[in-house]
Amino acid sequence: MSNIVSKRGEAVKKTAFIVFFVIAMMFAAFNVSAAKIYYNDEYHDYYAGDIHLTVNGKPIENLPMQPVVINDYTMVPVREVFEALGCEVIWHDDTCRVEIKNNGNSVFVKIGDRNTVINDEIVPISEPQPLPMLIGNSPEVLKSMVPIRFVAEKLGYDVSWEDSTRTVFVSSPKSSEDEVIIGGSDGENNTKPDDEVVMPEKEGEFGTISVESDDTFDYIYIATRYGISPTVTRYTNPERIVFDFENAAFPQMGGTVEADGNCVDSVRYANREGFARVVLDVSCKAQAMILSHEKGILIRVQKSDNTQLIYDAFKQQVYFDKTYVGSGKKVDNGYSVTFTSLKLQNQKIKIDDGIIYEIIITNSALGCNITVDGSNKLFYTAEKGFHKTDNPIVDNKPVIDKDGKKVIVIDAGHGGTDPGAIGYDKNGKAVAYESHINLAIALMVGEKLEANGVKVIYTRNNDTYISLMERAELANTSECDFFVSIHCNSIEKGDVKGTQVYYHPASETGTALAESIYDNILDMTNLEPKNTQNGSHLYVIRTTTSPAVLVETAFISNESDRKFLTSKDGQAKMAEAIAKGILETIN
Ligand SMILES: [Zn+2]
Repeated sequence: MSNIVSKRGEAVKKTAFIVFFVIAMMFAAFNVSAAKIYYNDEYHDYYAGDIHLTVNGKPIENLPMQPVVINDYTMVPVREVFEALGCEVIWHDDTCRVEIKNNGNSVFVKIGDRNTVINDEIVPISEPQPLPMLIGNSPEVLKSMVPIRFVAEKLGYDVSWEDSTRTVFVSSPKSSEDEVIIGGSDGENNTKPDDEVVMPEKEGEFGTISVESDDTFDYIYIATRYGISPTVTRYTNPERIVFDFENAAFPQMGGTVEADGNCVDSVRYANREGFARVVLDVSCKAQAMILSHEKGILIRVQKSDNTQLIYDAFKQQVYFDKTYVGSGKKVDNGYSVTFTSLKLQNQKIKIDDGIIYEIIITNSALGCNITVDGSNKLFYTAEKGFHKTDNPIVDNKPVIDKDGKKVIVIDAGHGGTDPGAIGYDKNGKAVAYESHINLAIALMVGEKLEANGVKVIYTRNNDTYISLMERAELANTSECDFFVSIHCNSIEKGDVKGTQVYYHPASETGTALAESIYDNILDMTNLEPKNTQNGSHLYVIRTTTSPAVLVETAFISNESDRKFLTSKDGQAKMAEAIAKGILETIN
């Protein structure tokens, strides 16, 4: 785990003050105002001046830390700004993450971590946007700051920048005008479902659009002679499903079809540059299936918790509107994938298009399994979903020759651009990096396991950055027996110390593994006992299908624990204890 809080000593502050004074003098001479802000454990020159912030038309003043511009991106104090937007802002102490919630959407950000979790999906903050950081005017008062545009837009707010006044405007969406349509001043809107069907002749020409419903389904029918497969996007708040048909056009610029369906309230359509857009305003979470039809495109909509699942008869494809990584395998007549972070309703959906016969959704403790029954050439990728490939699928697993051995994935936490927690000495000097300690211990654990006839897979065996998703995926595709993640703990209070091991309570073996490792660490070291703990909130524990534990070896923020963690002897003892705990559980 990493927790970015640092203490700086007097010496550093004095130096910083002198440097600041000299620079201030220099700029006074040139009549340029320069300021200093503090982040990433040091002072930075700051030239961007005052940045103003307006939320829903109201200027926000007296913030505990003023907005700042870093790499051309505005950073704002997360709590004050998102509370002003009416969001709930929750600090999760156990994972050092901030959760921002509004209208059913949630965004988790972690200080120093590029990966955010948006509605259960990992979305990295792309470069060169700055990471969520602790920023202040001095190291004594630091605030959690986030790139406002990234976070606000993910929650559905509009963000704009006015250069002349140097102001960031954040506002709740007024309506969905932006991605949608048109009332229509051409008199062609408000078509009734029973209007006569107009059937166009040419490819790409659409005719009338109509809606019908039965007890379960709403059917949206678009008259056209040639089926076109749309791209489908979902928007929430309000809930709607948007279909874009490339190179297609309606005879009129746009309009609205009122529908009193089970789920569909109205259908709006419009011609855009190069494509035709159809928007379904839905009153509930809905699942869409794009069915072929002898005289057009038929979209079938059904109330469902399966908000992410879409079937397209033209592409003969079952896919999600987001990227989900699952652990897949070939089954007789089809392909089966388990998604640890997904929850869908149990159900069977009959398709029968020649490639896909049936979609079967079942949930278990491992997560949600989707099996698509049909052709033996069916395959799943996160980008395309379930689709037919040219070659029969034999097996997509990485070839891991187990030799009949047990397989353990050893995961050294953090690495590369993510140092994890940092240990500081009394003078505020960084003296220990979590990522390096984790790696040193992990490699020694692996060596000891291999010496005992266990097959070891490392998520990393050098100082590189690997996302949490990649770590879990490696564990799942390798079908390992155990996943063991190694970390150092950190907390602001320097006197807190000891060992902690996290497990998933749903896994009996995982719980036993955590206890065995914990007991061995206490037996073989002088570290203080803290506890074994429910770690079901931790990504690598939650999303791995094998028994998994996360070892918080000791506190890098505590002087005596840090001495242990940075010493060769301490690392060797820790590795010995973890390996012994694993071997005792596996045998
Ligand atoms: Zn860590």
